[in-house]
Amino acid sequence: MYDYDAIIIGAGPAGMAAATRLRWVKTSLAVPASVVLLDPAGAGGLAAMGKIALSGPGFSFDGAELAASVRTDIEKLEIPVLREAATGLACVDGVWEVRTATRTLRGLAVILATGLRCLSNEAELMRAGRLGLLSGGYTQATDRFRHWSGHMRGQRLVLIGGASLAEDLPRYRAADDGRNTVDALLEPAQRIRGFRDLGTHVLIDTDAGEIACEMILVDYHSLELAPPTSHFLPAAWRDAHGFPRIGVQGSAEFPGLYAAGDGARLPSLCVKALAEGVEAGFNAYDYIFRRKFARAPHLFAFYPSSRRLGFAEDELPSLDPHTHLAVGLTAASHFTTPTTLTAEMLPVLQAEIHAKTATVHTTSITEYTAP
Ligand SMILES: Cc1cc2nc3c(=O)[nH]c(=O)nc-3n(C[C@H](O)[C@H](O)[C@H](O)COP(=O)(O)OP(=O)(O)OC[C@H]3O[C@@H](n4cnc5c(N)ncnc54)[C@H](O)[C@@H]3O)c2cc1C
Repeated sequence: MYDYDAIIIGAGPAGMAAATRLRWVKTSLAVPASVVLLDPAGAGGLAAMGKIALSGPGFSFDGAELAASVRTDIEKLEIPVLREAATGLACVDGVWEVRTATRTLRGLAVILATGLRCLSNEAELMRAGRLGLLSGGYTQATDRFRHWSGHMRGQRLVLIGGASLAEDLPRYRAADDGRNTVDALLEPAQRIRGFRDLGTHVLIDTDAGEIACEMILVDYHSLELAPPTSHFLPAAWRDAHGFPRIGVQGSAEFPGLYAAGDGARLPSLCVKALAEGVEAGFNAYDYIFRRKFARAPHLFAFYPSSRRLGFAEDELPSLDPHTHLAVGLTAASHFTTPTTLTAEMLPVLQAEIHAKTATVHTTSITEYTAP
C-alpha cells in the first residue's frame, strides 16, 4: 500500500523538473504518475532567491522568473507541495517510506532533490536584508562578506556553512577586521530548524537552542564540498563527501530511488539540476509503470498531444493476474498484503488504477488514513 507513485524530496529546480516530467507525459497512452513534493520552504529552491546566469552574457535567465513559471506548471498539474522536511528514508517490502516530523509517506519511487541546504524562510530574510549568500569563488565570497560586514559595527554576524567553513572562518574574521563578532554554524553537526525575524535581530533556532544575531551569511562553497542534506540517509548510502551513492539512473542496490541536482553531485548548476530532474523523472516513471503494470510503458511521444492528460477506461492496460504484482493498493482497497492477483481482485484493482491514474490525483494527503 502506498500514498503516491513518486515522492520527491526537495522542490528546487531539480525536484520541480522531476515532478513535472512524471506528471506531464505528453501522450494519452502514458499514465501520469501521482506525485507529491516535500519541501519546508515550498516550491522554488535556491532559484527563487536570486539571479541565475548561464554560461554566456547573451544566454541567461532570471532564477526567480524560472522558479515562478515552473511553479505555475506544478499548480496546473495539481502536484501537491507539502511544507515538511524528510527526516528518514527506508525501503519496506519494496515500498519506500519517507518520514517527516509528523507522518510517514509511502511511495513506489523516491527522488532525492535536496540541493545543498534544507531551506525554510531564507527568502523572506533575504528580502528583509538579514541574510546574504556567499558564492562566486573564494575571492568574490570574501569580497561579498566584506561588503556586508563593512556596513556593521559591534554586531553579531553568523556564518552558516558545511564542515570546511571551519577552515575559512579565520579568513572571514580577518576580512571583518574586528568590527563585529563573527561566529559560524557548521551543518550537519549543528542542525538549524528555522529563523525568526524580530525586526531588530534574528533568532536562529538550532538543536542546541536559539542564537540571536543581526546578520546571517550562508557560505555556499563549503556546502558544495559536503552537502549536509543527505544526512538523513543511512551512512552506508552516502559517499565520503556526503553525496548519496545514487544518481539519476538509480541503482540495482536501491530500486526506485533516484537523486538529481546540486545534492546529487558536483558541480552545482541550475541547468544541470533541471536536466537531471527531468532524467530522474523519466527513470522513475519507467520504474513505476513496470511495478504497476508489469511491462514497459508507452514511452514517450516527444511531441505535444492535444488530448487530455487523463487515461480513458478502455485505454487502461489490461492486467494479467499471473504477472501483475498487486502493488498500488491503497487504503481504499480491501486487500492488505497480497502478492499475486486473483480474478476477484481484478475489478477492484482496475477501479483503483483508474481512480489513481485516469484522473488527476487530487485527494489531499491529509485525508489519507493508514489502515
Ligand atoms: C548565490 C548563488 C548564485 C548562483 N548562481 C548561479 C548561476 O549563476 N548559474 C547557475 O546555473 N546556478 C547558480 N546557482 C546554483 C543554482 O541556484 C542551483 O544549482 C540550483 O538551484 C540547484 O537546484 P536544486 O533543485 O538541485 O537545489 P536547490 O535549489 O537548493 O533546492 C533544493 C530544495 O530541497 C529542499 N530540501 C533540502 N533538504 C530537504 C529535506 N530533508 N526535506 C525536504 N526538502 C528538502 C530545500 O529546502 C530546497 O528548497 C547559484 C547559487 C547560489 C547560492
